[in-house]
Amino acid sequence: MSSAIPVRVRIAPSPTGDPHVGTAYIALFNYVFAKKNAGQFILRIEDTDRTRSTPESETAIMESLRWVGLQWDEGPDIGGPCGPYRQSERAEIYRQHVAKLVESGAAYRCFCTAERLEALRHEQRRQGLFVGYDGLCRGRTRTESETRAGAGEPFVIRLAMPRTGEIIFVDRLRGEVKFDNAQIDDQILMKTDGFPTYHLANVVDDHLMGITHVIRAEEWLSSTPKHMVLYQAFGWQPPEWIHMPLLRNADKSKISKRKNPVSLGYYRASGFLPEALLNYLGTMGWSIAGDREQFTLDEMIAVFTFDRISLGGPVFDLVKLSAMNGDYLRALDDAGVVARLRTWRLSDDYLRSLIPLARERMQRLDQFLPLTEFFFSGDLDYAPVVKDMLPKGRTPKQTADCLVTFVEALDVQRDFSPAGLEPMARAFAEKSGWATKEFFMLVRVAISARKATPPLFETMTGLGKDMARRRLRQAAEFVKRLPEPPPPTDQKTH
Ligand code: GLU
Repeated sequence: MSSAIPVRVRIAPSPTGDPHVGTAYIALFNYVFAKKNAGQFILRIEDTDRTRSTPESETAIMESLRWVGLQWDEGPDIGGPCGPYRQSERAEIYRQHVAKLVESGAAYRCFCTAERLEALRHEQRRQGLFVGYDGLCRGRTRTESETRAGAGEPFVIRLAMPRTGEIIFVDRLRGEVKFDNAQIDDQILMKTDGFPTYHLANVVDDHLMGITHVIRAEEWLSSTPKHMVLYQAFGWQPPEWIHMPLLRNADKSKISKRKNPVSLGYYRASGFLPEALLNYLGTMGWSIAGDREQFTLDEMIAVFTFDRISLGGPVFDLVKLSAMNGDYLRALDDAGVVARLRTWRLSDDYLRSLIPLARERMQRLDQFLPLTEFFFSGDLDYAPVVKDMLPKGRTPKQTADCLVTFVEALDVQRDFSPAGLEPMARAFAEKSGWATKEFFMLVRVAISARKATPPLFETMTGLGKDMARRRLRQAAEFVKRLPEPPPPTDQKTH
């Protein structure tokens, strides 16, 4: 049963942080579905959030999708018939489209100030009402709206959502899904700066790019009724909807970096094989047959249907993934393992980057590995350095909190070179009330389980952002479990 329209699917990441394992998971199911149906898999960069989007993040997303082996057929770097594929380059398209909606009355200009909206929310909360825009500007006449806009008054454009009834759509995995219109706010489609919001840009692009199936994570399910209203307002045929179950931590909460490494960079730096990671992601909510867990991408493509997706909330378990990775490693011959080691950290480039860190401290070549061993190992054992993990006068909680807050600051640190890290770490220590010496020593022990290492920031750069953050988090976990030190005894002075 093949439809006449060729399958076109997309992955639409926002470049606002590190490439996420959830992006690879959703990309995998899009890719497999496209290949199964001889269709196209498109990469679209949704960078409408101008304050949070960065080119570094976009590059990292593309590199990591390539690393796992999910190559797109159209995208910002390779072009294609429906470009540009970066939303920041499509501003004019959104402006034209939203103008049509204002013209038809499906959307309207809203001149309400931030203060009015805040007061409104406050009042709605106080009265226990539905918190949302009250539609004040929806009632304005076209003439008033145009006059005020013409006079330069700032406005946003909102979607006039139906106020009663339900939006019903079919999700391939869930069947009919219903949302009560009274519970959905008039969404902002275009901000005061003329940039579109996710809803507008996403729908316009999915339509113009000929997307036939939107395969995305469950967390977007509540956006779909708004998207349905937009499709109706434009008079367009909506795509098929497939909302994949979210990856979960072991406690069933949504996967988060506090409980699991979520950056694809971590999996790469830790020596996971991309095909093992893909295989494992393929078992998240989907099964190939019976209890078989190992399969290749081609095998998955050959038999793929959405019928075998289960909505149970797949648990992303690092231990299981490691076990699967071990199976893949053992299946390689010796030369194959060597080849993988070489593309991992035993590459000429990586070794060369470590030489300046070890050279001064080496008299013989046989000292290189002992000096740099912690660059090549995963999680460290802090037990031998336990007495260095708790700076004098600090409690385990204070120390663990300091480490975790530092990781969070590193999450948004764009420049991970020594020159970028040093001022950032100094400023952090000062702000947190730690002496730099004390703080730097803590970080050093956390990332290396040693008191003496090559210069701290060079070491962090050498480890890379993902490994450095993982170690700091692991160190925080270790410190948290240390017993509180006994209260200081009264020392009599003479
Ligand atoms: N930009 C959204 C994201 O970051 C896209 C969601 C969708 O696929 O519609 O995942």
